[in-house]
Amino acid sequence: MERTPLIYIVGTGRSGSTLLDLMLAADPHVTGVGEFSNFTDWVKQDDPCTCGRPVGACELWGPILAAVPEAAEVDVSFGVGLRRQLSRALRCILGASLTAEEQATARVNHELLRRVVGATGSAYVVDSSKDLGRACLLYLSGRFDMHIIHLVRDARGVVFSRSKTKPREQFVRERPDFAERAERWPERKRLRPTGYTYRRWMAFNAAILAVGVTRWRRHYRLVRYERLAAEPERAMAEIREWLGLAVHVAPAEAAIDAHNIGGNRMRFKPVTEVRVDDEWRRSLGKGPRALYALYGVPLVAALCNVVARRRPAPPTHGA
Ligand SMILES: [Zn+2]
Repeated sequence: MERTPLIYIVGTGRSGSTLLDLMLAADPHVTGVGEFSNFTDWVKQDDPCTCGRPVGACELWGPILAAVPEAAEVDVSFGVGLRRQLSRALRCILGASLTAEEQATARVNHELLRRVVGATGSAYVVDSSKDLGRACLLYLSGRFDMHIIHLVRDARGVVFSRSKTKPREQFVRERPDFAERAERWPERKRLRPTGYTYRRWMAFNAAILAVGVTRWRRHYRLVRYERLAAEPERAMAEIREWLGLAVHVAPAEAAIDAHNIGGNRMRFKPVTEVRVDDEWRRSLGKGPRALYALYGVPLVAALCNVVARRRPAPPTHGA
């Protein structure tokens, strides 16, 4: 069996994964498929791909679905949930084998994604599902040649981003052709207590660090959102070198023609410029700032910084 080259973005929500996904997919040798864990839901509801056509009628996904009929029965997501993710992280560290059911799910994921590589001629597919348990099971399946990018954003930025609600109506005003389908989209912007967000941020990032450092090693790379957004060209040049891709910078707008599944609504708009979203520095309240230290978040953040800096000097890329 030939392993399918897969770039997997792992991290907590609101960490900039859509931005990174679009920046990666701006490379002509890379195809982004979005949050692929949502694929089964998308197929069931025949929701629109970012090309605008329903998945079943999309020029990329239509033929692939016809070639992989199991995709209609098997949920490719593996399921989510904090406990499940942490137990899978532990299994990954221990190098445990998959159950028969997990193997079957991994096989359908592989059948679909290897056809994306075949249809597009890409060197890599990007799955920005973010889910740690999924990353662990895909890795353990041995069906993918994985490059796992752990994207970390300052927890205070995540908390602030969660506190802002962007109404669905605003999106529908911009894209009225999606009005009917947007009705069925889950309300993703549920408000969570600040402490909940901090605890989850710590649990996930610590678990990802542990698997990355002990098991994934050279297949693993920690990228800070703040650095990616502040120095996009340099950060992307380093990532491309790690991936073995030719070092060049393509305009991010190119990615808008992609066939992405699920995720952030930013996918439906072109990326015109990259800048750091650090509004939390001005607008985050005193409560969440105090909790940040009380919960001990700076400790995990410091560990992340140590691993992020553990890199050779960036190559000069002639730009
Ligand atoms: Zn499409």
